[in-house]
Amino acid sequence: MTAREHRLHVYNSHSGQKEAFVPLSKGHVGLYVCGPTVYSDVHLGNVRTFTSFDVIYRYLMHLGFKVRYVRNITDAGHLVDDADEGEDKIAKKARLEAIEPMEVVQRYTVGFREVMSIFNALPPSIEPTATGHIMEQIEMIQKIIQNGLAYEVNGSVYFDVDAYGQKGGSYGELSGRKTDELLHNTRALEGQSEKRNPLDFALWKKAVDGHLMRWSSPWGVGFPGWHLECSVMSTKYLGDEFDIHGGGMDLKFPHHECEIAQCKAVGTDRPVRYWMHGNMLTLNGKRMSKSTGNTILPNELFSGDSPHLSKGYAPSAVRFFMMQAHYRSVLDLSDDALSASEKGYLRLMQAWERLDRLAASGSNKEVDLDGWMERAYGALDDDFNTPILISVLFEAVPWINRAAEGKQSMSQEQIDRIQQAFHWFVIDIMGIQRPDSSEQGEDRLEQVMDVLLELRRGARIEKNWSLSDAIRDRLQAIGIELHDGAEGSSWTMKQ
Ligand code: AMP
Ligand code: ZN
Repeated sequence: MTAREHRLHVYNSHSGQKEAFVPLSKGHVGLYVCGPTVYSDVHLGNVRTFTSFDVIYRYLMHLGFKVRYVRNITDAGHLVDDADEGEDKIAKKARLEAIEPMEVVQRYTVGFREVMSIFNALPPSIEPTATGHIMEQIEMIQKIIQNGLAYEVNGSVYFDVDAYGQKGGSYGELSGRKTDELLHNTRALEGQSEKRNPLDFALWKKAVDGHLMRWSSPWGVGFPGWHLECSVMSTKYLGDEFDIHGGGMDLKFPHHECEIAQCKAVGTDRPVRYWMHGNMLTLNGKRMSKSTGNTILPNELFSGDSPHLSKGYAPSAVRFFMMQAHYRSVLDLSDDALSASEKGYLRLMQAWERLDRLAASGSNKEVDLDGWMERAYGALDDDFNTPILISVLFEAVPWINRAAEGKQSMSQEQIDRIQQAFHWFVIDIMGIQRPDSSEQGEDRLEQVMDVLLELRRGARIEKNWSLSDAIRDRLQAIGIELHDGAEGSSWTMKQ
């Protein structure tokens, strides 16, 4: 274990403060992240949240912690409406496509894993499913009923928010919501009449005729509530109290609030030490979401086949784009922003390539590598601040470029240390891969075209029209079209 363990600070959404990170058991970290509901293709917003936690997982391991990372697959219990009404999302999809619910689950679980692997996210240590833990969920409901904090009505079981409050529980402790305000804002939906209080939430729902996903229970045939699965699976694999629980900001309420209440209802004082929430990815200023259709799917992003994009982007460039925002800030996706990030990504990668080819000479005394490394680690220790880390890494670009241009020197030790740091921070921790040969080729082409356009500009200034026309015509013959305008010349490639 490195001494750095003591410097890591994480923002705890429960306290609203950055806190020194001290795990429950020295050297070990239990990390639980709410996984996807596998009823449709994951969109880039989902990818952002899982990528943020992938970096957190990677950095904790880099620091030397043994991390058990549990990320579930929600394959039952997530209803179309958060207020415990409507169909199960997976059952609905199965009905619409006339296939088995488990076919829906299989298709989108496989798709989710493929996408996360394309984005170079490490698989979790355990990936449990809600349907694989029905018995444990029934047992937890029984305990909550025994403790007087849940009641059965007509084959469904609800968590009793009032009784919880009377026994000292504070529903709203995470989200900061007040129960009376919540009550005021709760829609009186039909079917909620069987709840004693509209804020009560389902632990078990009776399966009406035709409901496809159903299990026997002490309360009749039904299915578990969505919030329950995460309480059950997190504590089964990480213990009643564990270190970090993560998810997207939108899960804070009601999902995580309910998870806390459920765990406290079975006697755990503080189930989670650090609550961490990633912020949303927006598309043109609006939250990316499956239900509103305001989404870009990973494949559309890679191919560029979307009205929002002018071209395709490689997974590593997209990961770099995500890393350029702190995980707690909203990130807006647009073609301009992606294209700016791609340039930054390639600039850093080119510097790395130059570094690999650099011949060592005398040490550059102006370069303070200890201070540089300290700032890089300092950024990550400050609540995983990847945008600051990237700006620190960019400080090395002019050192490398000047050495490559022969204007300054660099010793082998300096070269080795920068290479090592790039490897740790870019590949191991941020999970960003170096460009493949086609991306490199594209990038080289851009650079060659810059050179050609500059030469042609010179020819035109000198009124050497035959050379400037020859450059244009020869390029045209190989499918590259030049466009002369007031701002200078640009080029496009014919498909
Ligand atoms: P779901 O499959 O809808 O349960 O979502 C899986 C994860 O993606 C959850 O942690 C959500 O908070 C997260 N998520 C959903 N939409 C977005 C978004 N637009 N930006 C970032 N994360 C999101
Ligand atoms: Zn969850």
